[in-house]
Amino acid sequence: MLSIMGLTAKYGKYTSIKEVNIEVIKGEIVVLLGANGAGKSTTFKTISGLLKPAAGEIIFNDEQIGGKQPDKIVELGIVQCAEDRKLFPQMSVQQNLMMGAYVHRRNKGQIKQSLKEVNELFPILYDKREDAAGSLSGGQQQMLAIGRALMAKPKLMLLDEPSIGLAPLIVEQMFKSIEHINREGTTILLAEQNANAALSIADKGYVYENGKIVVHGSSAELFSNEEVRKAYIGA
Ligand code: ATP
Repeated sequence: MLSIMGLTAKYGKYTSIKEVNIEVIKGEIVVLLGANGAGKSTTFKTISGLLKPAAGEIIFNDEQIGGKQPDKIVELGIVQCAEDRKLFPQMSVQQNLMMGAYVHRRNKGQIKQSLKEVNELFPILYDKREDAAGSLSGGQQQMLAIGRALMAKPKLMLLDEPSIGLAPLIVEQMFKSIEHINREGTTILLAEQNANAALSIADKGYVYENGKIVVHGSSAELFSNEEVRKAYIGA
């Protein structure tokens, strides 16, 4: 579904990621691991069109998408859920969800169906549909950010650190929801610091260090890799 080959991206003269290769097969959950600043978010920004690649290719369903405009990439079926959630805090929960459906604005039936699915997945969003997004708890805001991304009916969802700042119990629920979304047919590329939780739901993973991928393999392989355990899992 997604093939990233030799991807290099820069901020001005600073090379943030270098010759990154990633392969995501339809139906998978793939996790990007690595410390703060290792290059995971830059990879996402380059896929979603917010940053132009300096070199390399990004092929999505046989189409070269590297450097395309973000709205075109959403239309092709890739939606990013950013680390800082980027909600509209003054707007209601429901209005935030509707913003995510912009790409399907001419298909009212599709929007209604997506809204139903999101409300079933996260019933609290239905209960709080009239409340301002900014009044929600951290976990609820993360649900809203994911719900809004789902409203676009993505084929591939880019999830940047969905567990950041959440209490352990909420993190557990969040990962269950991500598994559910995947089972319902959305392929997922996930960046996470919480390697343990992420690898337990992922098919495979890539480990970043200083802008480069240093190890990759199936979740089982990464779990049993001594260096990965030491650096990212503990024990
Ligand atoms: P985090 O979890 O902190 O977002 P990350 O693995 O996603 O970490 P990136 O945000 O991709 O890492 O950052 C990779 C490198 O690029 C870091 O050295 C960072 O300082 C740098 N960087 C990120 N955004 C910018 C920017 N807008 N301008 C300049 N440098 C940046």
